[in-house]
Amino acid sequence: QEALLEIKNLHTGFNIGGKTYHAVKDVSFDVKPKEVVCVVGESGCGKSVMSLSIMNLLPKHNGKIDKGEILYKGRDLAPLNDNEMNKIRGKDISMIFQEPMTALNPVLTIGYQMDEVLINHTKVKKEEIRKKSISLLKQVGISRGEQIVHEYPHQLSGGMRQRVMIAMAIACQPQLLIADEPTTALDVTVQAQILELITKIQDEVGMAVLLITHDLGVVAEMADRVVVMYAGQVVEETDVDRIFYDPQHPYTKALLTSIPRMDEEREVLNTISGIVPSLTKMPEVGCRFVDRCPEAMPECRQIDPQLGQTEKGHSVRCLLYDASHPDKKTEVR
Ligand code: SF4
Ligand code: MG
Repeated sequence: QEALLEIKNLHTGFNIGGKTYHAVKDVSFDVKPKEVVCVVGESGCGKSVMSLSIMNLLPKHNGKIDKGEILYKGRDLAPLNDNEMNKIRGKDISMIFQEPMTALNPVLTIGYQMDEVLINHTKVKKEEIRKKSISLLKQVGISRGEQIVHEYPHQLSGGMRQRVMIAMAIACQPQLLIADEPTTALDVTVQAQILELITKIQDEVGMAVLLITHDLGVVAEMADRVVVMYAGQVVEETDVDRIFYDPQHPYTKALLTSIPRMDEEREVLNTISGIVPSLTKMPEVGCRFVDRCPEAMPECRQIDPQLGQTEKGHSVRCLLYDASHPDKKTEVR
């Protein structure tokens, strides 16, 4: 099936003290229509920078796409300016964030903000706008829509604000929803409700979802396919079953062993020692995971591992799976 979104060799750089550092370095993957693709990794892995790159929402003063393509239905979004991108944002591709408070305007009512989206991006008739806003609120499970439209963001709970954001995001029936940690700020019960809502909406609207998360529980619940990112690179990509039952990259394996146990009340810190290297401390050559990898070999510091297929529909960036490496783990089929 043809891809809806195809990211090819994306490099996103930040200028820090006159030098360019890549928070996203050579990222490629695609999203097919109606598919749920989860991008997973610890914070600082470049997941958010990657999604902001797609939406052309990078901080203007120091962030920019240096190389690569972001093909949406075959059209490259990377070179588009704000004006051109505005036509695509909201209408074709919508985005929801972790903290809806930052995306909602605190001094305008919910109704005003929802109406604006419909006025700017749809052909809904003026006299129908408010009715449509209320029906969108119903669609996301807010039954008191008639009251909520008169309220301000701070009067709503976090879960309700996220529902409002989802209502705004689907107002134009986008074909792709990018959701960056949409449930991280919410408590567990509300989290589950929001994920369920996204699934329901996805089904109703028939859209694809690119879901960015650090939470493997969310991945298990939602994903068709999974992209594992580490330090700005894709290190593994395959379908959700193989991520859980046949993980190959040492980082994916480490992530899996760090899933907090269900009976534990608080999330325990993961078992991978160390942290993602900061942007300015990234090793210039070799594997970016080397300092934390339990299977690291001397050559991992000298050779850049490439993302390569280990089997059909399964790609890994690790020298252990490199066909040319003597210690390779699997035959490359
Ligand atoms: Fe570990 Fe080497 Fe593979 Fe990197 S390339 S993940 S350091 S084994
Ligand atoms: Mg993030």
